[in-house]
Amino acid sequence: MASQITLNDGNTIPQLGFGVFKVDQAETERVVSTALEVGYRHIDTAAVYGNEEGVGAAIAASGIPREEIFVTTKLWNADQGTDSARRALETSLGKLGLDSVDLYLIHWPRPDQDRYVESWQTLAQLRDEGLTRSIGVSNFHEPHLQRLLDETDVVPAVNQIELHPAFAQRPLRAFGTEHGIHTEAWGPLGQGKYDLFSDVPVADAAAAHGVSPAQVVIRWHLQNGIIVFPKSVTPERIAQNFDVFGFVLSDEEIAAIDGLDRGLRVGADPETAVF
Ligand code: NDP
Repeated sequence: MASQITLNDGNTIPQLGFGVFKVDQAETERVVSTALEVGYRHIDTAAVYGNEEGVGAAIAASGIPREEIFVTTKLWNADQGTDSARRALETSLGKLGLDSVDLYLIHWPRPDQDRYVESWQTLAQLRDEGLTRSIGVSNFHEPHLQRLLDETDVVPAVNQIELHPAFAQRPLRAFGTEHGIHTEAWGPLGQGKYDLFSDVPVADAAAAHGVSPAQVVIRWHLQNGIIVFPKSVTPERIAQNFDVFGFVLSDEEIAAIDGLDRGLRVGADPETAVF
């Protein structure tokens, strides 16, 4: 069973979830339905993924009580601001067919726009009104987080960042820990963009435990206390990625995988991203 993490606002989140970035809207209901059947109870989507309707349809069709499924969605960059952020969450809720989400995130800081502090204040209001239970940010670096700490009185519950063995983000994780901001990993499997699965510490641990390299990497995240939601459209992989509670990596195996960190970013840099 996926364990629950308690966030700084007292709400809990399943540590292992399911991500739907780049899942076609037409495929999303099937894929999320498979995930819910397998046992996932935490779905990570975003307005910009264009598949919130599919996520909502799968939740509705599942018959699982709403309060048993943790749903995250995100405010897109073009919608940052006061009125626009409110409209964006209302639009997302309409697409999801839900009265509220469990976690609403500012998707990217976009420092060039300089609207993330204003957006954050709006998210705090939306939370107080019950449209989302928790609020957080994504792709924020230390200076962006520090501005929220300095200029508002609400500490983000999470920071969702690119994080995988070759890009372990230790300083940013430590900053989060210091301030009670829980780290969530996106691209936890490196998005398949480098040879993570054949890296020796990962391959050796997989052989030793009789599991797949992907399962080893997911365990590495879990044992590091990170919230993680691998994406797959492949039914066997969806099931495999959730079947990670029958083995434990040793301290030596964790340390060897930690040693793969080499600052290898596979996605956009939040300082310069302008999409
Ligand atoms: P992941 O690191 O989860 O990698 C997904 C890729 O790995 C897919 O190609 C998938 O293939 C493959 N894969 C999945 N499971 C296995 C397995 N067991 N064995 C081999 N290959 C596997 O990348 P994501 O970018 O999707 O990250 C996860 C989630 O993080 C996203 O879905 C999204 O919710 C979130 N995210 C957030 C971002 C942000 O800016 N906040 C940015 C990017 C992602 P296939 O699907 O073909 O099976």
